[in-house]
Amino acid sequence: MSVDISFSWDDGAKEDLKLLDLLVRHEIPSIFFVPATNPERNVVPSHELRTIFDSGQEIGSHTYNHTDLKGLRYAESCIAIQSGREFLESVLSASIAHFAYPGGVFDAANIRAAKACVGTARTAKSMCFSKSFTFHIDTAFHFFDRGKLSLLKHGALNNPRALPWLIKLSPRYHYFDLMRAFADLLAQNPVPYNFHVWGHSWEIEQHGLWSELESFFIFVNENHKDQVKPYSAVFRS
Ligand SMILES: [Zn+2]
Repeated sequence: MSVDISFSWDDGAKEDLKLLDLLVRHEIPSIFFVPATNPERNVVPSHELRTIFDSGQEIGSHTYNHTDLKGLRYAESCIAIQSGREFLESVLSASIAHFAYPGGVFDAANIRAAKACVGTARTAKSMCFSKSFTFHIDTAFHFFDRGKLSLLKHGALNNPRALPWLIKLSPRYHYFDLMRAFADLLAQNPVPYNFHVWGHSWEIEQHGLWSELESFFIFVNENHKDQVKPYSAVFRS
């Protein structure tokens, strides 16, 4: 068994507290990427951020106000990233090393700024399973079914070597079954892999995916319990 399974959740939405209950009940470690404010939705208040953190989950930054960085100059990008980090550090009295790009979008100036301000940056690229990373952390699956075509497109773009598996598994397409099948396949392989799942609690609420998520947690605990790791243990900055 040589796969590390980890989870991250973006946006700091109020539904993060419902997600926290599920994580605690199933003893799943993960990281929440949280902006200080978000014009798109209410964020969890500071004292509840502490609740998440004190329960043993990790917190990472997601800019101050959930700004799409792409197109911002270096100095502006630094301010957006650094102020988000400093906000969390003052609320939690802890150092914050990990970051995720809002919307998964970024350009060369943003990357330089992120490298100056944080230890790692998670992207929204999916179908990536490589164990090695330098600064960018790519993901295996979004916990939301964007459709078979999107999955094949991500596979073709990000990981052509996974395409034969995808094609083999996709005729009986059910997105969350496919995730489970991939986790099993990677775990059986002697090569070490990463299986990082990311999502949004508000999206899980919006699309009624709570029981699907709970089934997935039960699946990993029954089949890959020792492979489920805290984000910082897998991605050391
Ligand atoms: Zn976001």
